[in-house]
Amino acid sequence: MRAAAIICTSPPDAAPVRRPPVPIRQLPDTLVNQIAAGEVVERPASVVKELVENALDAGARRVDIDLEEGGVRLIRIRDDGGGIAPEELPLAVSRHATSKIASLDDLEAVATLGFRGEALPSIASVSRFLLASRRPGDAHGAALQVDGGRVGEVAPKAHAPGTTVEVRDLFFNVPARRKFLRAERTELGHIEEWLRSLALARPDVELRVSHNGKPSRRYKPDGGGQGDREAAARLAETLGEDFSRQALRIDHQGAGLRLHGWIAQPHYSRSSADQQYLYVNGRAVRDRSIAHAVKLAYQDVLFHGRQPAYVLFLELDPTRVDVNVHPAKHEVRFRDARLIHDFVFRTLQEALAQTRAGADVAGAGTAPAAGIAAAAGGYGGAVHGAANGVQPPPAWTPRPQPLGLRLDEAPAAYAALYAPTAPQADAGFALPATALPRQDGALPQGDGEVPPLGFAIAQLHGIYVLAENAEGLVVVDMHAAHERIGYERLKHAHDGIGLRAQPLLVPLALAVGERDADVAEREAQTLAELGFDVTRSGPQSLAVRSVPALLAHADPEALLRDVLADLREHGATRRVAAARDELLSTMACHGAVRANRRLTLPEMNALLRDMEATERSGQCNHGRPTWARFSLGEIDRWFLRGR
Ligand code: ADP
Ligand code: MG
Repeated sequence: MRAAAIICTSPPDAAPVRRPPVPIRQLPDTLVNQIAAGEVVERPASVVKELVENALDAGARRVDIDLEEGGVRLIRIRDDGGGIAPEELPLAVSRHATSKIASLDDLEAVATLGFRGEALPSIASVSRFLLASRRPGDAHGAALQVDGGRVGEVAPKAHAPGTTVEVRDLFFNVPARRKFLRAERTELGHIEEWLRSLALARPDVELRVSHNGKPSRRYKPDGGGQGDREAAARLAETLGEDFSRQALRIDHQGAGLRLHGWIAQPHYSRSSADQQYLYVNGRAVRDRSIAHAVKLAYQDVLFHGRQPAYVLFLELDPTRVDVNVHPAKHEVRFRDARLIHDFVFRTLQEALAQTRAGADVAGAGTAPAAGIAAAAGGYGGAVHGAANGVQPPPAWTPRPQPLGLRLDEAPAAYAALYAPTAPQADAGFALPATALPRQDGALPQGDGEVPPLGFAIAQLHGIYVLAENAEGLVVVDMHAAHERIGYERLKHAHDGIGLRAQPLLVPLALAVGERDADVAEREAQTLAELGFDVTRSGPQSLAVRSVPALLAHADPEALLRDVLADLREHGATRRVAAARDELLSTMACHGAVRANRRLTLPEMNALLRDMEATERSGQCNHGRPTWARFSLGEIDRWFLRGR
């Protein structure tokens, strides 16, 4: 109603309003800074980010962050870094003044978090600002006040070595901006999120936070070590024990790239993307292409609609990445984005393939007593995972099953695999001679005899296999486990023969946008490898002469469109592989043992051994866990034993 009334007030034939010409003029510095602040200072959290980054650039070992009213009333950041000379204080708050770069060459290889020389003047133009500092060698400190952009005089001030920046009444002179500030809790939440992100990147630095006069958070320093243990402690401190217990340590190098950090095992997934931290050369950034690569890596193991959790650091030569693409430096641009996408995808996919059931069982393959003593993991919250700390104990490495199936053999092998009769040893269920339980059913004694998932003792309600291992009790979801084993075998069989192309009797004419037609032309070779024979037949049309054989009965046209979109957006595609996997997954699901099928003990043991040898067997094709464990200690607690 209101909108209609507004429209009616202006006559429909009104001439366009022409304002009288205004002479071009240079804007005053304060206004320029306030305009820049529009980009750099979105809310109190952005101030905290910029100031803490400055402290880190200055080599601080400890940073104190005092906040009032969610940072709106006060943000005070004190560090013990290198400080600023008194005569340089006015420079620090003036625009485009920085000590971090001096030339374009420096910019191309920048190693500090800051380099634009914009943060202090921008923040000082929209707040009541105080900068106080003292260099470690100087006898006295000095301070400079800036009030809404009006710069005062440098005055002596007592100060410990290091720097303090005080930002009061943010946006007091920009009411339009102030209106957009949210409730105290919300603003504080944003600040805490940034601090988490900074804390994860710099476990060597101590961060202390207080809010409204009360200490609210302290990130302890790791004692100067850069080792895994320290970083892992910070990880647990920042994202919680739960995450760190479920996390897989990643560290991989190649092609001049290094990717390290932690990724959560698939069963520790989130409903939102709230635990996804990515750093490029130590800088927290968002990157769609890398996020996409991570998502793809998890595709095969994550429950539908869930988000993975990760803390990943990508390191590369600074000249291979442009950090100067965003005023708040939230984004970067890679010179070879495609290579990086591929590197991240492959590294994580490889790591996730190692999520075999039992891979992290403590004491696996050793004497039972050791296993029990080490079994600290619990069922609470997580189904399984590293039992004792961040880094799972060295994985028990099973010998992979020989899989060399050809595609034409696959259906036969598949049938044998899922035959309703008892599986035969030659159908892939070969039992290692050493892994047989003793006749009396007890666990064999001595070293190297108990496999991670132990030996089957019974079947429960035709659904679960119960097994005894060195730690205690293992429960396996028979169908879920079998489904994954079949799926991995089918994938393996198909990998060997590649994706065959099936020629179409009548070429398919496909109308596409011009950009997609360009992509198809440029990537003809990639498409051919996927089974698509595509040529351009006009500015906006393609002729398709073949499609991937396995997927010919699905909707190859829709698949090709998705493939082109991927190639356009990310320079790479996993669509065809994903569509193939989906098909194989369905086949495996239908073929897997159903509930209420009685298995013999040898069959159950064969299933356990297969799980141990199969990649990703910790979760079924849909990302549900395949097994759970209960340590003896835990079972003892059920019965209040040993208290
Ligand atoms: P940038 O960080 O991009 O250089 P800033 O406006 O954030 O720009 O800071 C301007 C300059 O002030 C920095 O280059 C640095 O020399 C100095 N500076 C700012 N904060 C600190 C600090 N906490 N300790 C030492 N020097 C600082
Ligand atoms: Mg800065």
